[in-house]
Amino acid sequence: MRAVASVLHLDLDAFFASVEQRDKPSLRGKPVVVGGVGGRGVVATASYEARQYGVRSAMSTREARARCPHAAFLSGRFDAYRETSTRVMELLRSVSPLVEPLSLDEAFVDLAQATLPDLEVPTVTAYAEELRGRVREVTGGLTASVGLGTSKFIAKVASELDKPDGLTVVTPGTERELLRPMQVTVIPGVGPATAERLRRAGIHTVEELERVTEDELVRLVGRAHGHSLFQLARAQDDRPVVAERETKSVSVEGTYDTDLTDRKLMEGLLTRQALGVGERLRKHGLSGRTVSIKVRLHDFTTLSRSTTLPSPTDSGPVIGRHARALLADLDTSGGVRLLGVGVSGLADWVQEDLFGEVEEGDDVPDLPEAPRSRGQWAPGMDVLHAELGAGWVWGSGKGVVTVRFETADTPPGPVRSFRADDPALSARSLRREED
Ligand SMILES: [Mg+2]
Repeated sequence: MRAVASVLHLDLDAFFASVEQRDKPSLRGKPVVVGGVGGRGVVATASYEARQYGVRSAMSTREARARCPHAAFLSGRFDAYRETSTRVMELLRSVSPLVEPLSLDEAFVDLAQATLPDLEVPTVTAYAEELRGRVREVTGGLTASVGLGTSKFIAKVASELDKPDGLTVVTPGTERELLRPMQVTVIPGVGPATAERLRRAGIHTVEELERVTEDELVRLVGRAHGHSLFQLARAQDDRPVVAERETKSVSVEGTYDTDLTDRKLMEGLLTRQALGVGERLRKHGLSGRTVSIKVRLHDFTTLSRSTTLPSPTDSGPVIGRHARALLADLDTSGGVRLLGVGVSGLADWVQEDLFGEVEEGDDVPDLPEAPRSRGQWAPGMDVLHAELGAGWVWGSGKGVVTVRFETADTPPGPVRSFRADDPALSARSLRREED
């Protein structure tokens, strides 16, 4: 544990929903739910207005609709979230070289590597407050909650204490006092199964956990976990903030409009992507030892799994076999939005311009029931009308699409309906806006 509160944890508030409210003026101050809008959809993020009706992340969209039928239910715009996230991470990296992103909307920053006159509480507090203002500027008005503490654990706990739009600094030396009344689930790594085991032993709070000996904890939850629980119950956490390093790789990925749930189809897509990766490797005379897959779930959680082979390969079928084996270990029952295969661990002499992702085309040959590419009228998606300009899909069905014509920079706009195949209407991508 550090002697100063130099670890900062920043968490954007209700991130996906806030981006939607920023870009859709008519939704500001209203309940917004982002997630799967289909029959088996799950809520990814609810705006604070929707949370007042009991809508929560990971709840089924069906239940969310029952609790808050007047909310706007949007299927999500990953490009917009990624673009906003990039601006925030760039800001944080301008503050300190040690930035560790945890997800699109969350990161640790090591202020010991920033250029502050000292790391005393008043100094880091003022700095964090200023940083929150700068986040608001670079994101076009999004709020962030920030926690500061002597460790990652404490900083993350602190950022939760005054959400949304809050700042909490845990004064060095007061960590154990803060944790004692909290439930054991506040400790990283204590999931439902561990919490249940502790509960059966009569341990509910950190204070109760503190009274248990290390031997007893090891007996309860196993050696590795027991040791770290013993430490964390005492706020002992020396984990460094680690900047993410980009690894060189050749990869192919595809994004799907309809959440994929069919395992056979996913395996088929991975196989096809693996053949593409193999082709690219051979074309450039490369091979690599590490095969990885990337899977983005319905709630935008992105999972990566990799395996390292005994010797380098450039064979598509070999890459595909390992990719399918990696997929077998993942729970994808809630639906998958993106699948990708990559090979890394390449030789260093490879030219930089070979790297980067290749977007899959719309056609997926040799596969029955190929998912439609993005471009259908999903609720919330950005569209452009040849005469009426920019707007977003308010709803669609029965061959009709309804569009609200407004953007982040306009007042709330009017609603108009069109035939779903109206040639004047097209999808609007962020890239096009930047051009
Ligand atoms: Mg957040």
